[in-house]
Amino acid sequence: MYITDLTHFLDEKGAIAPMPAPARRLAEFLGRVVAAASAPATMDEAGECHCNKCRKGIVVTEIASDDAIEWFCERCGHEGRISNWRRSFWDLSALPNKR
Ligand SMILES: [Zn+2]
Repeated sequence: MYITDLTHFLDEKGAIAPMPAPARRLAEFLGRVVAAASAPATMDEAGECHCNKCRKGIVVTEIASDDAIEWFCERCGHEGRISNWRRSFWDLSALPNKR
């Protein structure tokens, strides 16, 4: 299981910090997971995220009781948790839920 603290990937403005390409790809994947988990249900396009391991599975997300995002790939079983994601660039939970 990947246990990640999103702030480790970010600069002081909340964007992805300069880092080597593999780490950056992981950070971008985690950002998509955060967007998928935090987006209002009306934002369908943000609600799907493909697995970064098998690249075919859809990652299922859930916000746990301790506010971490738990994610899981239905296809290959790749899974992880993301903490400290609130108010990051990808946190969509503050967007209005109604159009
Ligand atoms: Zn997968």
